[in-house]
This record gives sequence, structure tokens and C-alpha cells, in this order.
Amino acid sequence: MIIVLGGGPAGRTAAIHLALNGEEVTLVEKGELGGQCLHYGCMMVCALNDAARVHGNTRNLHDLGIFKTIPDINFTHLLAQMKTIQTKIAGILDEETRGAGVNIIYGKEGRVVGRSAMVDGNQCPADSVIIATGSSPNVPLVPGITLPGVFSPHTLSQMPSLPEEIVIVGGGIMAAEFAYIFQEFGAVVHLISRSGFLKSLDPKLISLAKKELEGTRIYENCRIEAVDGREKAEGVRLKGEKGISTISCDTVFIAAGLNPRSEMIDGIRKGPHGEVVVDRQMRTSVRDVFACGDVTGSPQLTPVARHEGFVAAENILGREALMDYTHIPQSMSLFNEYAFVAVDNPCAIAFSVPGPAGPGTFWSVPSGMTGFAKVGVDPDTGELCGIHVAAPSAGIIAAYQAFLMQQGIGVKAFDEFIEVHPMADGVYSLMKFVAEKIREGKFF
Ligand SMILES: Cc1cc2nc3c(=O)[nH]c(=O)nc-3n(C[C@H](O)[C@H](O)[C@H](O)COP(=O)(O)OP(=O)(O)OC[C@H]3O[C@@H](n4cnc5c(N)ncnc54)[C@H](O)[C@@H]3O)c2cc1C
Repeated sequence: MIIVLGGGPAGRTAAIHLALNGEEVTLVEKGELGGQCLHYGCMMVCALNDAARVHGNTRNLHDLGIFKTIPDINFTHLLAQMKTIQTKIAGILDEETRGAGVNIIYGKEGRVVGRSAMVDGNQCPADSVIIATGSSPNVPLVPGITLPGVFSPHTLSQMPSLPEEIVIVGGGIMAAEFAYIFQEFGAVVHLISRSGFLKSLDPKLISLAKKELEGTRIYENCRIEAVDGREKAEGVRLKGEKGISTISCDTVFIAAGLNPRSEMIDGIRKGPHGEVVVDRQMRTSVRDVFACGDVTGSPQLTPVARHEGFVAAENILGREALMDYTHIPQSMSLFNEYAFVAVDNPCAIAFSVPGPAGPGTFWSVPSGMTGFAKVGVDPDTGELCGIHVAAPSAGIIAAYQAFLMQQGIGVKAFDEFIEVHPMADGVYSLMKFVAEKIREGKFF
């Protein structure tokens, strides 16, 4: 018997893979299947961003005199419809998981102490245990943080109405995505970033993102000191380079990253942030106990969580799989989709072009917001060292490019590439350009 704690992307992938390979598997999920990805993360951002982009496109066409009106958003109805669809998807996941032969226990807290798994205090005999309990929002413990009017991705669906003025706490991808959504819905948005905004992204991506977030006031190198208000949040106190300042608002939204959820794990080695320490086979410090997904720390991404779940399951099945983190693509959804994947290569030379007119960008030509593509290439070998792209389908482009990079397929192969047309992708044209230069020996 194998016990899996947590039915998010990591736990579900592991459980299904094991069950399909003939193992007896019990998955313990204290909430609903789908984890944060479905209920508070990726799918929630899709739901809100899809509506925001439609609004943004409509506004753009209105500004060009093509549409006569801009629709008003019905925010509470949007949240209710989103919940209905999330519940429907959770039902599909339940069917799929049971269909694979996994036994699911809902509504119970699992716990692991050393090699023993417990469910609601009762010990469950198991040959192997997989910890996939995920993560939860990193909420700064400042005065006033528990006031009504302070939300996180886990409580956003309880917002009673569209905020008029919102402070978003966080300076990474998650914070940027929510800033775009609320800005597009018409709220006044302030964003507080503890360091530089989107600091881990390519500078070209940062500058385009800032342009798209022109309606958001971004405070960099500032930290939140307190949420002010008597009965509900009415403002935020900040400490920045110029001292203490205040911002008034009716809503505060915490989007400051995720902490591993490992408080129910004892007797197993953890890192300084509570992450369960694993090797590349997803083995913990205790024999026959594996961990995968967000509970093991960064990168905290659904595809990584799923693949870690797969690797843990493969090793339980005795097939010696290793996790490889070298080519992980990432994305960010604003008006454009942003995506990137990069490996270190000091010899790489960068090339970039503005995004072409195509599906999803034609009406952005007048505003110059068609996105862009940038690639890094080693001129000697033609190795592709990175791509950074902002385009309507950037995520898809980056995922396939990351795979080509992992397979060692460099730009030279793009001599033979035939694209579909029209498409709003500038990456392939850059690759063809560089391939031609390498072939002709005219790189410099
Ligand atoms: C706002 C937001 C946006 C995001 N956007 C993206 C994105 O665009 N792309 C991307 O790749 N990733 C994104 N992520 C991250 C992604 O959601 C996570 O990486 C992914 O969900 C991790 O999967 P997991 O299975 O490890 O954990 P989780 O999804 O956290 O699932 C863990 C599950 O374990 C259950 N559980 C916890 N404790 C117990 C217990 N003691 N007993 C039983 N069950 C338990 C929980 O109820 C939960 O269902 C986003 C996250 C957030 C919050």
C-alpha cells in the first residue's frame, strides 16, 4: 500500500501513475482535488485574466473607435461562475483519479512522523509514503494583517465586491498578474515590492510589463509595516528608502510568494523555509518516504510538481528516475503572455525583435504593444541559451523551445523550420536569422 498526502498536481500525478502500474494507492486530500493550481492559483488567474484581456481588447478597440462601448465587469458574478467551473473540474479530476484505481479519502488531515503516515490520528500501514502537501501564501505577519478586507489567493473568491483602491503586496510574477487584472477591471492599484519589481526577469520583459501596468503605481524596495483600519483595512503603512509613508485603500491583497506546507511533517529533514529536503529521486531523509511538489521548495510550479510526482512514483516502482531542473520554462499573464527559459552561458549573444502583427496582436500595432522576442545563442555552437518572449501564445512557444534546448537542438536546425502563418511569434524568425548568419560565417 502506498499513501499519498495531498491531491494537488504533485500528489495526483504520483497516485495515478502508481495505480496505473498496479500499485494499491490511497490518496488523502483534506480539501478538494486539484490543489492550489485549480482552486487558488493557475486556473483562478486564467479565469480572471481571460476576462481582463477581453476587457483590455475591447477597450483598445473602443479607443480606436471600432467598438462603441466598453462593457462593465460584474465582478461578483465572475467569481461565482469561476467557482462553478472549478467545482466541475474538481469533479472531473475525481473521476479520472478514481478511474485510474486510486482510493481517495477526502476531508481528513494526513500527518507524517518519520516513516509513519497517520490520517486523523490513526496510523496507516504503508510500504511507501509520498508527501505532496503543497504550499500556502506567504503572509507577512504585520499588525492589522487579519483585518477584514485583507485577502490572499486563497480567499480572493470571498471578496464581496470589486475593490475601488487595492494595495497588492508582492513584487513577483503573482503580484504582477493580479495587478494587471485589477487594473483592467478599473480599480486603482498600488503594488509594493520588497526589492526590484520582477527582479528575476529579463530587463526587456520587465520594461514591457511596466508599460502594460502603466495604471498601477509600483513602489519598489519598500516593505509593508502595517495594515491600518479600525473594523476593516483602510490603508497600508510602508517603509521605503524615503522612510514611512501611507497609502489609503479599501482592499489589501497578499501575493508575496508561497511557503511550503510542512507543519504536519516531523522526523524528516527540512530546510530553513520548512521545505522537505529531497534528492533528485524525490527521496526524503527517511527511507521509503518521498516528497514532491511545492512542499519541497522552489521552483513552485505546476509542471514541476507534476514531474516530481512522476519521478517519485517511478522510483517507488523501482525504475530509478531523476529530476532535471535545467530547462524549466515559466510564464506570466498580463495583457500579453510572457514566457522565458534560460541557461547560463557567458558566451551567449542576444538578438531581439518586436512581436509581429498576427492573431491577438493586429490591433496592438497602433499602440506598439505587440510584444517582443529575444533569444540568446552561443555563436560558436549555435546552442540556444535562452528565450524571453511576450506574445499572445508565449507560454506554448517557451515550453516547446525549452524542450528543444533540453534535447540539444540548437538554432542551426531552424534553417529547415516552416512556420504556420499568421502567428504572432517572433522567436522562429530570430532563430532562422541566426542560423543563416552561422551558416554564412557572418556572425559578427
Ligand atoms: C496565485 C497563484 C498563481 C499561480 N500560477 C501558476 C502558474 O501560472 N503556473 C504554474 O506552473 N504554477 C503556478 N502556481 C503554483 C502552482 O499552483 C503550484 O506550484 C502547484 O499547485 C503545486 O502543486 P502541489 O501538488 O505541490 O501542491 P498544492 O497545489 O498546494 O496541493 C497540495 C494539496 O495538498 C492538500 N493538503 C495539504 N495538507 C494536507 C494534509 N495534511 N493532509 C491532506 N491533504 C493536505 C491541499 O488541500 C492541497 O489540495 C500558482 C500559485 C498561486 C497561488
